[in-house]
Amino acid sequence: MFWPIIAALLAVAIFALHRSWKKKIRAAVERNEKELAQLRESHREILSNAGAQQKTLFDSMVEGLLLLDNAGRIQLANRALENLFGVKNGICGKTIIEAFRNHQLTELAHRLETERQILEFEIQLSEIRSRWFQVNAALITDENGKRNGSVFVFHDLTRLKQLENTRQEFVANVSHELRTPLSMIKGYVETLLDGAKDNPEVAEKFLQTIEKHTDRLTFLIEDLLTISQLESGQIILNRELHELHLLVEKVIGDLKSRAAERKIYLANEVPGDLRAHIDLDRLEQVLWNLIDNAVKYGRAEGTVIIGARSGDSKIEMWVKNEGAGIPVAAHARIFERFYRVDKARSREQGGTGLGLAIVKHVVQCHGGQVWLESELNQGATFHFTLAET
Ligand code: ADP
Repeated sequence: MFWPIIAALLAVAIFALHRSWKKKIRAAVERNEKELAQLRESHREILSNAGAQQKTLFDSMVEGLLLLDNAGRIQLANRALENLFGVKNGICGKTIIEAFRNHQLTELAHRLETERQILEFEIQLSEIRSRWFQVNAALITDENGKRNGSVFVFHDLTRLKQLENTRQEFVANVSHELRTPLSMIKGYVETLLDGAKDNPEVAEKFLQTIEKHTDRLTFLIEDLLTISQLESGQIILNRELHELHLLVEKVIGDLKSRAAERKIYLANEVPGDLRAHIDLDRLEQVLWNLIDNAVKYGRAEGTVIIGARSGDSKIEMWVKNEGAGIPVAAHARIFERFYRVDKARSREQGGTGLGLAIVKHVVQCHGGQVWLESELNQGATFHFTLAET
């Protein structure tokens, strides 16, 4: 008779137990879910921190970096690469040919299908202006050796190539400049030995020509030495305060007879009280080169004016001549080594083609600038500045 009551009590107890377990289980599930969410959040944070660190690292590289996936699509391009190639964002997801339109790079990517690593592959991009790159490329593999994309590292070689070209050009120019007077000297010596020496009149004329070419060789070698000293920074300027009018007077004195040959008047219009901290010998060379050019290339029977003024804590000097002047197209290159507007005329005048390059270097060593104002048939004025103190 108690059974029904016992059964009812048991049922109530079981029900209560079930409810309490259900509650506990729900609480445990909720706890787990919360922990899982926290774990997910911290995992996301770790991933995003690692991503940010990786991006900072890649973007701080000087070399351009490109990561491709297995399908050859760009996964990542660092900032250096975007700058080197002038591409912004948009290249992720593209293939190399779509992004760069360069067959050498495409060829490199194809080679990675059979090779694991390709080192020091040189490419040239010339769409806008010629740029050179050295590319190292390698396959990325997982721990089982399975392909997992590829990586390309780009070094910009443009500056190095430009320097190499300048050096080669310089050596070629020097060899050419040396060869011309040397072959003339050899020719005249051979003619003398072949019998011309027995005719005193002819012999003297030939010897004078040989002397002229020997002088040219000497000037050329002196100018080359000066240029190489200036460019290697070996020259230490001995700067002292000097009166510019006096210096110009001295150079005019040295060039007077050359000017007289072409009936050119040299006018020193530099104010008497103007003084500057200069290396006297070097500045004398600057003025000598500019005034000598004005005499050589200026109008015969014309005037060459040497002037100066001070202002803005610097001194500006100029050498102005009349005559044919220099075409505007030549202005940008006139201070380059061996650049000549009229090659034949320069050589005939015994010019080395290095005078204005020396002028530019010396003026820059004095902290100044040099420039040219000239129009065809309006003469030419070479200006340069010097720091006042
Ligand atoms: P160079 O030894 O040939 O005179 P420079 O470097 O002194 O070499 O001058 C380079 C070229 O610039 C000259 O060959 C000449 O063609 C041109 N040039 C220089 N100065 C003048 C000038 N005052 N008027 C016209 N042309 C000039």
